[in-house]
Amino acid sequence: MTHLVTHWIGGKSVEGASGIHGPVTDPATGAVTTRVAFASAEEVDAAVAAAKEAYATWGRSSLARRTEILFRFRALLDAHRDDLAALITAEHGKVHSDALGEVARGLEIVDLACGITVQLKGELSTEVASRVDVAAIRQPLGVVAGITPFNFPAMVPMWMFPLAIACGNTFVLKPSEKDPSAANRLAELLAEAGLPDGVFNVVHGDRTAVDRLLEHPDVKAVSFVGSTPIARHIHATASAHGKRVQALGGAKNHMLVLPDADLDAAADAAVSAAYGSAGERCMAISAVVAVGGVGDELVRRIRERAEKITIGPGDDPASEMGPLITKAHRDKVASYVANAAAEGCEVVLDGTGYTVEGYEDGHWIGISLLDKVPVTAKAYQDEIFGPVLCVLRAATYEEGLALINASPFGNGTAIFTRDGGAARRFQLEVEAGMVGVNVPIPVPVGYHSFGGWKDSLFGDHHVYGNDGTHFYTRGKVVTTRWPDPADTPSGVDLGFPRNH
Ligand code: NAD
Repeated sequence: MTHLVTHWIGGKSVEGASGIHGPVTDPATGAVTTRVAFASAEEVDAAVAAAKEAYATWGRSSLARRTEILFRFRALLDAHRDDLAALITAEHGKVHSDALGEVARGLEIVDLACGITVQLKGELSTEVASRVDVAAIRQPLGVVAGITPFNFPAMVPMWMFPLAIACGNTFVLKPSEKDPSAANRLAELLAEAGLPDGVFNVVHGDRTAVDRLLEHPDVKAVSFVGSTPIARHIHATASAHGKRVQALGGAKNHMLVLPDADLDAAADAAVSAAYGSAGERCMAISAVVAVGGVGDELVRRIRERAEKITIGPGDDPASEMGPLITKAHRDKVASYVANAAAEGCEVVLDGTGYTVEGYEDGHWIGISLLDKVPVTAKAYQDEIFGPVLCVLRAATYEEGLALINASPFGNGTAIFTRDGGAARRFQLEVEAGMVGVNVPIPVPVGYHSFGGWKDSLFGDHHVYGNDGTHFYTRGKVVTTRWPDPADTPSGVDLGFPRNH
């Protein structure tokens, strides 16, 4: 085991001198396949220094130069979809088709960044007063940092850096230490596309690296995606150090199924959204709220579909669901199912104790379906982040809505109904940042923005779309007067300037 995932600083692979590294595991086999270097505070400082130096030139580079490089990066990414997806599967465990989907959704943000010329056009008002014009422009911040979770090792970094660098910033990424290789591959592709050294840097590691980024005076903004407790810490610490922060946290996404819904479509959607990527998605549906008398039939149809899911290694084309990220996480997910009956849930499917032949040391768990889940159950209250779907019952739309709105999380939600009026009410009344109507995973397209409410996001800006451009730039308003020789000469006037 000699391979080491190194940092990427100033356009070069850097082993780092901290002497600390962590194991990277193939979740399907449980074998440690690689080590990843953990950065010390000094190594983070070196990455920030490289980014600061690069910013002196990149921050003033033309839009034409930036987009030329981004278009080349887009082409390279497109050509390397398959090997990037294979890298994701090897360290994350998700099935290859799902990893390809992740790359495609990241590429969407690169597309958006290629069109930064339009987004940064600015505004101009002429003749706001006699011979006075006002221009509003947006300028980059400087060095910005991104801290990302394990569940989308390519897509979530791409929610951040394409727009950040398109806006003229330079970037330091601290990816998840659990599946670090995709970040380095993206760095190599950016270099191949002609991105100048130091514009994009990667430091690997744990809290030591993160905390240095949060405190570093030269880091002007921090984008974070991960669990709610860490999102709170990031938001509080980076804000206290005067930085702009967007910190996206965890989720418990509800799907409200009204009695008039197409039950087959609802069951298909619930199964796909609950068990896809083994439930390790921040937009996974983890709670179905069945309204009226629809519960028994809906649970029957969900069970029928869930039992047919093929679980296996992500690189086997027959697999629909892969293993969980670590053994510890697998055991934690299993504990929720093991305690469910004692907490008052009806255990319809119990996925604990599942293994795959020939891969006995993999981080496996099967499908779990819990019915008639009380809101007091831990399985309902916590974000489990595994293939466990809770079904709750509500007598009316109002009761279901109140239940969803009582959740501390507010990332995504969905309603399944044929009633346009009820769907419209739901859009307006539900407390969540992303709403699907007969769409279970309403991840916004790249040119809209992604973000939740309540404990699912700390900060003002959602990621990508127009919010992304706003987050990575600051506004400046320039008021200009060009006097005409025919004007009456100026004189001293101590009154507050008025426009006329
Ligand atoms: P995590 O919070 O454990 O880790 C996220 C990042 O923070 C990693 O880079 C990690 O190294 C770092 N980190 C971990 N502990 C830290 C600490 N004490 N101090 C400083 N940094 C620390 O999250 P995860 O397990 O990698 O990812 C899963 C979580 O991410 C889930 O809660 C999921 O809902 C959430 N997520 C949210 C979104 C969203 O858009 N809201 C998207 C994807 C994932």
